[in-house]
Amino acid sequence: MSGIGTGELQRISRAALHGRDGEWDLVIAGGIVTAIEPHDSAAAAGGAVLDARGGLVSRAFAETHVHPDKSYSLSDLPEGIDAAELAGLDGFSRAARLKSAFTPEDVARRAERALRLAVSNGATRARITADVDTVAGLRGFEGLLLARAATADLLDVEIVAFPQEGLSRDPGAEELLREALRRGADLVGGWPNVEATGEEERAHVRTVFDLAQEFDVDVDIHADCFLDPEERILEFIAEETIRRGYQGRVLASHCAALELQSDADARRIIARVAEAGVTIAVIPLNLADGGPRGLSRPQELRAAGALVVSGTDNMNDGWYPLGTLNPLDRASMTFWGGSFDDEEDLDVVWDMVSGEAWRALGEPGGDVFVGMRAELAVFDARDRSEALRNPGGGLTTIHRGRVAARRRVRQEFLPGHAAELAGAER
Ligand SMILES: [Zn+2]
Repeated sequence: MSGIGTGELQRISRAALHGRDGEWDLVIAGGIVTAIEPHDSAAAAGGAVLDARGGLVSRAFAETHVHPDKSYSLSDLPEGIDAAELAGLDGFSRAARLKSAFTPEDVARRAERALRLAVSNGATRARITADVDTVAGLRGFEGLLLARAATADLLDVEIVAFPQEGLSRDPGAEELLREALRRGADLVGGWPNVEATGEEERAHVRTVFDLAQEFDVDVDIHADCFLDPEERILEFIAEETIRRGYQGRVLASHCAALELQSDADARRIIARVAEAGVTIAVIPLNLADGGPRGLSRPQELRAAGALVVSGTDNMNDGWYPLGTLNPLDRASMTFWGGSFDDEEDLDVVWDMVSGEAWRALGEPGGDVFVGMRAELAVFDARDRSEALRNPGGGLTTIHRGRVAARRRVRQEFLPGHAAELAGAER
């Protein structure tokens, strides 16, 4: 098969599968993987077949935490913003100034670009967050609705309505959240730490849960985002989850402060998080905050039985100038920042952007299995290690059994020098 057709694949042949020796064929029907069988060249000779040529075929990636309403807003300034006026502002003020100029169309254009990048990097599912507050109004949310519609054949998207400026701190935000939920926001977000007092932080959490229950949606909440041991709302979120009977319906992101709290405090909070079934999305870009460690104790959370994933957060916006929206980069950053060191740990960080990420979004976990939706990534790499070591390598992304994107890499050398690099000449 060459190029990208629009038809459904019937088979992926000559696949390398994680944890299995040999070459395998995945049989696909109606967008579902219906069988995994040893490679059969006769069966693979006809029909809509994608030849993996011995490359790794994996579960596609899932983005559990990303803010595409803001993506590219630093390099592609919204109309009316002058780069000079951003100089010297802190992240909060810079992000607020940028979003004050957002229009739904501007947000849609940048968010669509970000979502397409995510698909080209192997993701076919994303939980995306829209600032919903009195600075952005509903313009960011409306932009993400447009971007979701424009990319509906590439990936599945759910939208979090997020009061980034606070609730007590930003009167009017609660009503805007309610309006976004009425208009189809899939989850309610929060960021209690931005409030002025501990009581207002707890009121913020209670309001988020009130809205979640009113609209029967899940909660996706920013918690203790900075490397500040005084940030301590995560434990209260876990307790509120239990009080509301919301176990399994809450994801808390960042939780960077956990890293700096005493081991005794962290053990207690982690036990509470696990008991409450709160998923934790660690955010490797927190490593750029310059703290001593900074990645939210993913190993201790996992050991306690918590579901832990690794999220993107910001990309080229008022908060963070870099970002590739590449889950392979994120897995590597999680490996560095999470004090992982063994080859077996590669599977842990891989799962945090793949199987476990799907599980965090309410789907079955795991890698490739019979009965799964054909959400797959086909690499020009033989195994996970090689893919992780070459995050820009060739890759075909499959969504609902169709090829959604394909990245081809062509390397050329001075005549007489053979190409031996990964993915160069498959
Ligand atoms: Zn975030």
